[in-house]
Amino acid sequence: GEQPASRQGSGREADLGQDRPHSARIYDYYLGGKTNYAVDREAAQATIRVFPAVEVGARANRAYMHRAAHYLARQGVCQFIDVGTGIPAAPNLHQVVQEVAPQATVVYADNDPIVKVYADELLGGTPEGSTCYVEADATEPGRVLQAVEETGTVDLRRPVALLLHAVLPFITDDDPHRIVSRLLEPLVPGSYLSLTHWTGDFEPKAWAGVIDAYRQRGTQARVRTRAEVLRFFNGLQLVDPGLVVAHRWRPEPGSDTSTVTDGQVSLYAGVGRKP
Ligand code: SAH
Repeated sequence: GEQPASRQGSGREADLGQDRPHSARIYDYYLGGKTNYAVDREAAQATIRVFPAVEVGARANRAYMHRAAHYLARQGVCQFIDVGTGIPAAPNLHQVVQEVAPQATVVYADNDPIVKVYADELLGGTPEGSTCYVEADATEPGRVLQAVEETGTVDLRRPVALLLHAVLPFITDDDPHRIVSRLLEPLVPGSYLSLTHWTGDFEPKAWAGVIDAYRQRGTQARVRTRAEVLRFFNGLQLVDPGLVVAHRWRPEPGSDTSTVTDGQVSLYAGVGRKP
């Protein structure tokens, strides 16, 4: 059958679920990746037809991750938990943070067996640091924490940065605010949350179309308002510049943020610190 170029001859075809589109592979297509199949490309193109800028937002999300991860590592955080990792897209989180702190450790977690198939690219890194991957579902936050602890890769007695990037839009039935506060509960003061979330605040019609395109292809998702996203940071101190559209969060000095609009990006991003 059809193979993404990066997985030629891996012998793992049976696990790849290429009969239906998959959110992580659709997102990979937006990013220009090669880990996607015809069903995923059809779904991605349908979404692009209703909202051509969806690729701009995906790239802004990734660029935000690079800046936020750098920022967190420079604050001295060297343990990271990334829930809803997605298909690897270099540079991945551990590559970004180990550039600043070679001893940094990362636990990657995703609930989709498809992501696990590609997770070997998330492993490795610097000799001083370490990374690992766990299969865990964010809708069961207690089990996510347990799986993370069992890896021995992070020590929850020391500060941790929890990343929830573009994953909460896929939590539609469970209460996402309860999930986030449960995930934050055991983290010690000085720990951080970095979160991104798609919003329909700027382009409500287009985003209704995007959500519809996903639903028609078997994936439930939703956008949330700024007020709803802000509530994820309850009990935390938002670091400057607060919750903003992703390209506006600590842009690289000298970079021009006016090349894209808030509507094109349609993604809130922010970092909060646990007091
Ligand atoms: N965080 C990455 C990828 C976002 S794509 C980034 O920002 O670049 C969204 C990812 O969330 C997909 O890989 C999907 O499998 C994962 N996901 C969706 N629902 C999830 C859940 N309930 N638990 C864990 N991961 C989930």
